[in-house]
Amino acid sequence: MEKIEFCLASNNAHKIEELQAMLGEEFIIKTMNDIGCQDEIEEYGTTLEQNSKIKADYIHEKYHINVIADDSGLEIEALGNQPGVYSARYAGEPTNHEANIEKVLTEMQGKTNRNAKFRTAITMILNNKTSFFEGEISGKIITECIGEGGFGYDPIFMPDGFDITFAEMSSQQKNQLSHRANAIKKLLEYLKTKK
Ligand code: IMP
Repeated sequence: MEKIEFCLASNNAHKIEELQAMLGEEFIIKTMNDIGCQDEIEEYGTTLEQNSKIKADYIHEKYHINVIADDSGLEIEALGNQPGVYSARYAGEPTNHEANIEKVLTEMQGKTNRNAKFRTAITMILNNKTSFFEGEISGKIITECIGEGGFGYDPIFMPDGFDITFAEMSSQQKNQLSHRANAIKKLLEYLKTKK
């Protein structure tokens, strides 16, 4: 079978590796650098879905290549689903994960509803057709940081059914149950129907 080539709208080596491993060798994943795109794409959307589509459309329109773009965030019930689309820059720019966690923990002081979820929205444009996929994982915001692994809000997020945080899991364990993994699984199911 002819290999299908995609640009992943990211230069994050970890994301590329994770996606390539999940998609397998029938797919060739290129970074934005690989296709010669050094542009900072402005993410002006107000939802994860909008931002993923903004990134996908930008690359597709400029480079005419199949594209997969994702946008993720942490949605906390007691904070009206904030930080959500603003997760990366919740405590201001540039992104500072420690400051973001500090802000969330302060805002969550005294809150009894600790329910939260990580959510990923993916926009894929394959042969000029746009499709959307969503993945999430529910859990709780704990009251202090636990664990050294992962990134972002991992040390304060304990997924439902576990008594350890994302930051205490191995990357293999996290990558099997994460919001991104759940979205990519749906994308994979869709791609299988296209073979
Ligand atoms: P991105 O859209 O994947 O770049 O994610 C945006 C922001 O959401 C990140 O900078 C993190 O603050 C947060 N985030 C997304 N995924 C995760 C995760 O798996 N663990 C912890 N934080 C995450």
